[in-house]
Amino acid sequence: MSAARRAPATAGKNAASFSKKLEKLGIRSRFDLVLHLPMRYEDETALTAVDRAPPGVPVQVEAGIVRAEVAYRPRRQLVVHAMAGDSALALRFFNFYPSQLKLFERAIAEGKRVRAFGEIRLGRGGAEMTHPRYRIVNPGEPLPEALTPVYPAAAGIAQPMLRSAVLDALKAEPIEDSLPPGMRKRYALQDFAFAVRFLHTPPPGIDPAELIERTHPAWQRVKFDELLAQQLSMRMHYLARRSRSAPLLPGSGPLLKKFLGALPFRLTRAQQRCLAEIAADIAQPHPMQRLLQGDVGSGKTILAALAALAAVDAGWQAAVMAPTEILSEQHFRKFSEWLAPLGVRIVWLHGGLGKKDRRAALEALSTEKVGVVIGTHALFQEGVDFARLALAVVDEQHRFGVQQRLALRKKADGGGIVPHQLMMSATPIPRTLSMSYYADLDVSVIDELPPGRTPVKTRLISNVRRREVLERIREACAAGEQAYWVCPLIEESETLDLQTALDTYAELQAEFTGLEVGLLHGRLPPIDKASVMQAFKENRLQLLVCTTVIEVGVDVPNASLMVIEHAERFGLAQLHQLRGRVGRGHRESDCVLLYASPLSQMARARLKAIYESADGFEIARADLSLRGPGEYLGERQSGAPLLRFADLEKDEPMIAVVREAAGRMLAEFPDEARAHVERWLGSRRDLARV
Ligand code: ADP
Ligand code: MG
Repeated sequence: MSAARRAPATAGKNAASFSKKLEKLGIRSRFDLVLHLPMRYEDETALTAVDRAPPGVPVQVEAGIVRAEVAYRPRRQLVVHAMAGDSALALRFFNFYPSQLKLFERAIAEGKRVRAFGEIRLGRGGAEMTHPRYRIVNPGEPLPEALTPVYPAAAGIAQPMLRSAVLDALKAEPIEDSLPPGMRKRYALQDFAFAVRFLHTPPPGIDPAELIERTHPAWQRVKFDELLAQQLSMRMHYLARRSRSAPLLPGSGPLLKKFLGALPFRLTRAQQRCLAEIAADIAQPHPMQRLLQGDVGSGKTILAALAALAAVDAGWQAAVMAPTEILSEQHFRKFSEWLAPLGVRIVWLHGGLGKKDRRAALEALSTEKVGVVIGTHALFQEGVDFARLALAVVDEQHRFGVQQRLALRKKADGGGIVPHQLMMSATPIPRTLSMSYYADLDVSVIDELPPGRTPVKTRLISNVRRREVLERIREACAAGEQAYWVCPLIEESETLDLQTALDTYAELQAEFTGLEVGLLHGRLPPIDKASVMQAFKENRLQLLVCTTVIEVGVDVPNASLMVIEHAERFGLAQLHQLRGRVGRGHRESDCVLLYASPLSQMARARLKAIYESADGFEIARADLSLRGPGEYLGERQSGAPLLRFADLEKDEPMIAVVREAAGRMLAEFPDEARAHVERWLGSRRDLARV
């Protein structure tokens, strides 16, 4: 039976509209109501005497109603005069219905009393309350025994309606505990039904801070269950994929051997370790699901190339997907440089391909002639068929949206054989996030940069000193260096965004008459983007004015100076990524963060974090606490609920415990585990999986 139909307040024809309103709050089932937990509480378990009420604190008083009238001074209002003991009290309502006046008149006639909850103030005519919450009661009616919950509500849903709906949901039938008794005991958890009932109707005398801060054991139980559902669902998904078949890529083929023998550089120890982890995965007949994390410039691409080569060696294909065309072109060049000499055929699928070339490329892909294909998300759209896809590499994976992930997954899940997946990300994911939202992936971390890099010097410079910055560019370029000038992204206006870049380009062109200045932005046709990038790479352009299109992955070692204009408008992860575009060669590199004064407190904190640290993980942590997890999840979670009750930072210790509990529950109580996930995630599970 639906929760709405149970609620007495909604009997009859109002039921449907009430349940519609509940749906707006995300409440669709009885369990949703049970989990619609209060934001705060009001204490109506006690009465306060009018003359004892502390100022500024809402209290409850009970009074006999003397007279109710509509007054017109200073403006139209309903005034209810009442006597609480010896004290007179006026209740004032500036917005009221005629029925409210009738209600009070009837109460007077029937000798009933009023309980009003609100702040008492001294007005001209004595003590008064403005817009109190109130109830008409019979004389001697007992006070409630629990604190009164205040729920998150929506327009058209009054608290009393919500309250009675929740109470009904709590009473309707016993609420089962989805955790076996042994587990509850082991993790010292309260009984679930007890915990939720407690949170909806806490007894008086409880420390409200424990409820508000969500540290009370009852809250702990709810948060534990929420995190457990998340962990279980991730783990189940992981195991399900793990049980599928994937191509065996033993990594002992001739191409790989040859390439490893002639590597352009020595892999760092961290790269070697990650490579071994990847190799072990793809040598198994089950799909790899690995996230390769490594700070900007740590050298992830070469590992992707090695994995791709293992696929080709075994007679299969590999696909490399990048979030932008610029990056996909760069990969195409790198892969060609590395793998083409071995006779591997590599195809770049991009928007600039003519119809004929595209058809030829697709044809080649579907007939095994191509070993490696590189492109954007268009790789996994309709019309692209792989003959023997064994490995899908997703670079800068957090950049991809839900739809693109879904397309990739569909492609991957299509036949009986599932390709291995290697996700790569330079946005370091804080530990709490990788333990929760990314728990369905195995993780390798390249925690070391290749040798010979000189750390980038970061400078914070106010816009008023722009002149000095221009001089610095002039000097650098005169000395044979190259520079980026990054224009800010203007939120919600691509046109303005573009305009800024165009204006800056014009300004800098006029300024540096002796230099070749280029312009790169997202609206350029792919073919132009490619040629601008190529010109910059070959040092035919010394200064590149660009928008954040260069943020991910671009690799031009000779560029040693970056100016980021309006740095205060960028996110931390973004600044870190941008800064990673310099410091790739042997020169000392500078990153100048130009900001407009005055800075907001938040902007100041962000710039301070980026100034003080070059470590992506530390910056990620700072960002997480400044801005919440959105930035890191990208679109991973859009459409799926983020955690409602648990807090990744505050509850970090609990996450580790829950992970252990999830493993145990899956092994010992698989049926209960499934039921628990169903209860918490239900239909939302699929989206959480993307
Ligand atoms: P990212 O991890 O940011 O994708 P890249 O794969 O683009 O980094 O590597 C950055 C640069 O470092 C590239 O020019 C790459 O060829 C180079 N590189 C990668 N590994 C090493 C290494 N072990 N020694 C020296 N240079 C390396
Ligand atoms: Mg990269």
